[in-house]
Amino acid sequence: EITVPKPVNTRIFTVSNQKGGVGKTTTTVNIAASLAKLGARVLVIDLDPQGNASTALGVDHHADIPSIYDVLIDDFPLADVVQQSPEFDTLFCAPSTIHLAGAEIELVSQVAREHRLRTALEQFVRESEETFHYVFIDCPPSLGLLTINAFVAAREVLIPIQAEYYALEGLSQLLNSIRMIQKHLNPPLTVSTILLTMFDTRTNLAHQVADDVRAHFPAEVLKTIIPRAVRISEAPSFGQSVISHDPSGVGAISYLEAATEIATREAERERVARETADEN
Ligand code: ADP
Ligand code: MG
Repeated sequence: EITVPKPVNTRIFTVSNQKGGVGKTTTTVNIAASLAKLGARVLVIDLDPQGNASTALGVDHHADIPSIYDVLIDDFPLADVVQQSPEFDTLFCAPSTIHLAGAEIELVSQVAREHRLRTALEQFVRESEETFHYVFIDCPPSLGLLTINAFVAAREVLIPIQAEYYALEGLSQLLNSIRMIQKHLNPPLTVSTILLTMFDTRTNLAHQVADDVRAHFPAEVLKTIIPRAVRISEAPSFGQSVISHDPSGVGAISYLEAATEIATREAERERVARETADEN
């Protein structure tokens, strides 16, 4: 069984891109499932009222289920809404329900409205009996209070980029938003990881865009690229990640590789930091 190094502290990612349909949810679900398969303990927080991540993970999220809405609006402890995924013992999900659609408005009048997810998540991490290695927050495509809550709760941003013509243009908007968050709400927030997705190897354009993104973000872009693959898009209709749906296909293999990179790059950073500390 292949495993990956575990981070010293819980790594909290928000998976963000202000564009819809770029592979945020698909990336959240499949990176989380990959890390769970590779031995890590992983929580997915579904912060999109559409609930696509909950569906894709096969987690119950009908209207009466306690959900992330109750955490944000009614101060439920996060632990009370988290469900284990049917797929992996170490994969968990805080589901979204239809009520979350109203939360964007309801949050406006709440105390500490930008910090509600952060507070709940800090308590959850502190009080969990077993350490969670990773948390991934799946965001809606808009920059409303739900997404701002994710930016404030997270330490790292994972940006999925679809290799197409306007990819970089949309990105500068996102980076501006992140700078605003860093300045006013969460200074340590870092864009640590960029993943090229839905890559069509047959087109020159896809290769050009990939080269462009790499030139701008050499340290952040993962070597692994996620190809466009039917198995990836059909997996959610089976309530499964592609890791279980088609374990030996290109989709599963590339997501497992990307997850391994995410884990090993951090282990390497931690090693360098330790050595530097020892030298001083
Ligand atoms: P977002 O969360 O950013 O809106 P999704 O993850 O829902 O984006 O992806 C948008 C659509 O593209 C979905 O129908 C999804 O199944 C499909 N999709 C995502 N990644 C891939 C891929 N690598 N290959 C094929 N289809 C994909
Ligand atoms: Mg989505």
